Amino acid sequence: MAANRTFTMIKPDGVENGHIGAILDQITASGFRIVAMKLTQMTTRDAEAFYAVHKERPFFGELVEFMTRGPIVAAILEKDNAVEDFRTLIGATNPEEAAEGTIRKKFATSIGENAVHGSDSDENAQIEGAFHFAGREQF
Ligand code: UDP
Repeated sequence: MAANRTFTMIKPDGVENGHIGAILDQITASGFRIVAMKLTQMTTRDAEAFYAVHKERPFFGELVEFMTRGPIVAAILEKDNAVEDFRTLIGATNPEEAAEGTIRKKFATSIGENAVHGSDSDENAQIEGAFHFAGREQF
């Protein structure tokens, strides 16, 4: 995946609370092109692998349970400076610390159930996009 791409998920809370449309609207209105997208559900094995970097953290079990409890929307997005600009658009991990107008400020309910994921580096964007999408699903 090129360096102008990032990977996102609308997490189970965002889907459950009916925010898919509003979140996608804010993403596309902010200049991101959708390269790939699907409604899917992660298995426990998927979530443990996706968040393996956090496996020693105290919140890991809760995070895996949360991320597998219902469907997510997974997507690859394209824009100049995609990773950094998308992290700005979603805001801080903890919605109480997220800037006004950011997706997490508007739609997250807690530090754990924070509505969206955004890759934190070009390398992870590539790994995470490939985790969810085959090359032929990327447009
Ligand atoms: N998380 C949590 N408790 C914490 C920190 C993080 O439940 O104290 C969850 C939260 O859903 C977060 C994810 O773990 O989005 C990954 O954490 P990270 O620090 O990578 O934050 P992000 O990059 O998603 O902002």
